[in-house]
Amino acid sequence: MAKCRICGKPGFVYVSEYKGYLCKEHYSRFIESKVDRCVKRFALLRGIKRLLIGLSGGKDSIALLYIMNRLYGDKIELEGLHINLGIPGYSGESQQIVDKLSSITGIKVSFINLCADYGFSIKKAADYYFKKRINRPPCSVCGTVKRYLLNKYAVEKGFDAVATGHNLDDILRFASTNIVTGDVSNLVKQVPREESTHPKIVTKIRPLCYLSNKETLNYVEANNLPIVRTTCPYKPSERKLAPMLASKIGEIEAVIPGFKSMYINNLWRKIIPSIKTEPVELNECEICGMPTSIKVCSFCKIRHILTSDQSEERFL
Ligand SMILES: [Zn+2]
Ligand SMILES: [Zn+2]
Repeated sequence: MAKCRICGKPGFVYVSEYKGYLCKEHYSRFIESKVDRCVKRFALLRGIKRLLIGLSGGKDSIALLYIMNRLYGDKIELEGLHINLGIPGYSGESQQIVDKLSSITGIKVSFINLCADYGFSIKKAADYYFKKRINRPPCSVCGTVKRYLLNKYAVEKGFDAVATGHNLDDILRFASTNIVTGDVSNLVKQVPREESTHPKIVTKIRPLCYLSNKETLNYVEANNLPIVRTTCPYKPSERKLAPMLASKIGEIEAVIPGFKSMYINNLWRKIIPSIKTEPVELNECEICGMPTSIKVCSFCKIRHILTSDQSEERFL
């Protein structure tokens, strides 16, 4: 049986950087040091005393909270936020997992229930989409809802920043899809640290941006952490553009190790800085008062459509 390159205990996983196996403990320290290097390199925690962590219950957000607590738990105040999206057979388990993580780490986690607190669910958004009553697929609505509620909660409770579990593969998949479709202006936010541009928009940080899917999964296994095992019923089919691009990127990395690092470094150093964007003027949403470039923010539009009967309007 393969042994750990550092201590000789049973090997857990092969790590190419070590040209050999590491045990669970040394693998965990290796992943944590990768995150710590990223945090320092991009000054992700500069000026941050209170950090809110978005927790879906998936492997990335679970690893994120656990790693941030291990590395910085004694220096900054951490709190988690979970949004129960009202997806049958999925949201209940997600909430339980997040609750378990809170007990394991002792980190406070708050919960928002989309149904109880805002009167609609992602299931309802999906039903409307499948009946062609709205144009936006459930994943897109879900993304808007999570971004809006995380930011709003952080602003109201006085957090300095929000951290999310977006990893290397997520960012490369998103970037590749937007390059192919020509929507390059969407790329400018895909950076390790996105500064606040308005008193009601908090700074966003992505400390796992150098870790792959495989690395966060191995990390949660090495540390025996609970994660949601059920797949979201609305996950897009593997035949869609984004998952297909992601799988091609994985194939290239297998043949050319370091491909993903080269891609993400060029994305941050060369591609994103060359994108010209016009500064957007932000107004207050007529309904909720949060910043938006239009009259009514997209969260309030979605909420209005899904909680009223004027659903035939296709303005989403
Ligand atoms: Zn070891
Ligand atoms: Zn609004």
